[in-house]
Amino acid sequence: MADSQTDRLNPEASSRERFSKYRDDVREDKLPKGGSFHGPIDNRPKKARQRSAFGLVKSFFNLAGPHRFSLISAIAMLTVATGLALVPPAATKVVIDNVINEAPLPQFAKSIVGDISRRRLLTYVVVGVFLISTIKLVVGIWSRWIATRTTKRIQLLVRKRVFEQAVRLPLNRVQEIRSGGVASILREDGGSVGDLVFGMLYNPWRAVVQLLGSLAILAWVDWKLLVGAVILLPLVFFTHRTWISRIRPQFRQVRKQRENIDGQATEIFGGMRVVRAFARQRREGSRFMTENHYMARQELFVWWWSRIVELIWETLIPAASAALLLYGGFQVLDQKLTLGELMMFMTYLLMLLGPLATLAQSATSFQNSLSGLDRVLDLLEEPRELPPGPVVVPLKREQVEGAMSFRDVGFTYPGASEPALENVNLEVAAGQTIALVGPSGAGKTTLCNLVARFYDPSHGTITLDGRDLREINLDHFRNLLGVVEQDVFLFDGTVGANIAYSRPEASIGDLRRAAEMANALEFIDRMPEGFNTIIGERGVKLSGGQRQRVAIARAILADPKILILDEATSNLDTESERLIQTSLEELMQNRTSFVIAHRLSTISHADLIIVIDFGRIIQSGTHEELMESGGRYREMVELQTSMGQPVKSQS
Ligand code: ADP
Repeated sequence: MADSQTDRLNPEASSRERFSKYRDDVREDKLPKGGSFHGPIDNRPKKARQRSAFGLVKSFFNLAGPHRFSLISAIAMLTVATGLALVPPAATKVVIDNVINEAPLPQFAKSIVGDISRRRLLTYVVVGVFLISTIKLVVGIWSRWIATRTTKRIQLLVRKRVFEQAVRLPLNRVQEIRSGGVASILREDGGSVGDLVFGMLYNPWRAVVQLLGSLAILAWVDWKLLVGAVILLPLVFFTHRTWISRIRPQFRQVRKQRENIDGQATEIFGGMRVVRAFARQRREGSRFMTENHYMARQELFVWWWSRIVELIWETLIPAASAALLLYGGFQVLDQKLTLGELMMFMTYLLMLLGPLATLAQSATSFQNSLSGLDRVLDLLEEPRELPPGPVVVPLKREQVEGAMSFRDVGFTYPGASEPALENVNLEVAAGQTIALVGPSGAGKTTLCNLVARFYDPSHGTITLDGRDLREINLDHFRNLLGVVEQDVFLFDGTVGANIAYSRPEASIGDLRRAAEMANALEFIDRMPEGFNTIIGERGVKLSGGQRQRVAIARAILADPKILILDEATSNLDTESERLIQTSLEELMQNRTSFVIAHRLSTISHADLIIVIDFGRIIQSGTHEELMESGGRYREMVELQTSMGQPVKSQS
């Protein structure tokens, strides 16, 4: 729900207030350092919520799994290429000292090439440098290609894992994250995990090899240079670490905010009709902009923090290079270095400082990618829907009879204080039709949710043919189900594809039969392209009644053993309902069916009618029994018939 601040019409002002609190939190280092940012519930151990950078790197390698070999080979080739790049500057020294200034070659070189002319030496050196540069180029490009390909592969892998995890999260968690939020994690965070290949491995590794290589060569020229580096590096490291540890939580917050915005936008467009009907476009626009302003402020704030890190590097780098240059210059003046050595010295100095600058620049974007990984791990570590019991058995469809029993079942929605169902005891023989009646909010849908195993009962057991549902393979169990709900959900695509959703391999003949049984064939055949007509997102191009008939056809095609009809005919006029009623009754033959219906006349033939109120079964029996014994059911029936025709119950 929007709080009063975000609801204001001036997005600038309200985002400023929120931001000033955020800024204080950052300054006082109060931002959460980790943890589930995907919703209010976080029941994971605290340890998992405080991942160190090292822990993240380790998790990255675990995630990269099958692509580890590619990563290692890319890194190995990169090492070769960077190593080769260190050779050409050394040639400068040979050219200046030995070719131009005619200094004698050192002993080890003489033993290789012998006594040769200056022209020959120059040719050798140039050809050698050319060959080495060419090899470096080829190896370098190849390693980049492998790294790029691995980036994509890791992105695909992460997206696959996030998707698979998100579709298996408990329903209430999916609702908390919201569809747009999941899309945001898939796109933004999943993508940034792939970027870590370059941000965390490739670029830093190249910098490190170049740094160490040039440092080694410089030290070989003059060992005192090493002392300077040894003093400089820890200094950089510690200042850096202090700041960096404050930056990642900020990037996480920005990402969390983006998830919010995406979730909100998706929701607004999903509910566009309501937005328009209540003329809320302007308010929704301003709510959307408030969130965006807030994110922009967060981003601009973290920009400054990142620049501070860069500033540290950028002051140290010129200072270090000035000091080194001064030292080298004095060495030449004191004639301790030759001209060629100075030139070489300068080149390696640049090669030493270049990687430092690269590291500085990539450090903050690396932190950003790392915060993406952090969020992906948060999601992947969440417990999945309905953890399986100690024994899980596969289920063969042919062996299923369909008898269900509820023993002392109670259920409370996660996060809710009051139970939605209590003390439910029920025996349903195979193939029976059970009608659930009762006022709105009584718990009828909740009972069906437990039958479909969208949730497990908080206590008590539900069994199918005597076996606890928790012991049955979830996918196998769901394959037995057919569900038609009041809020029909159809996917964008053709009518045919929507009906075939439950059995994609069904033939067109099967589709037609199912559509005919659901009384949908007639309107489908009238549509311009029949079964191939595109029906738009959520089936917007169909009427409510048509959507419901498509959903019924979908359930018919699934040929379920257990059928759940939750107000399945609520959107139909009396005439269509009467027509479909016959097909539904046919469909319910020999299938265990749970039916919630608003017109009591439609369920009078049920084998068992259960009256639920406040989450408890208050009456049960056949229509005749309940009419005879009097009570709640008879009151409801009399109320409906006294109004002349069957009327809708309150739900
Ligand atoms: P009925 O289908 O009889 O109209 P429901 O089974 O949908 O009633 O709801 C029973 C109770 O459970 C209601 O009090 C409702 O507020 C609550 N409830 C339903 N769905 C949820 C949910 N996802 N989270 C928390 N409470 C819920």
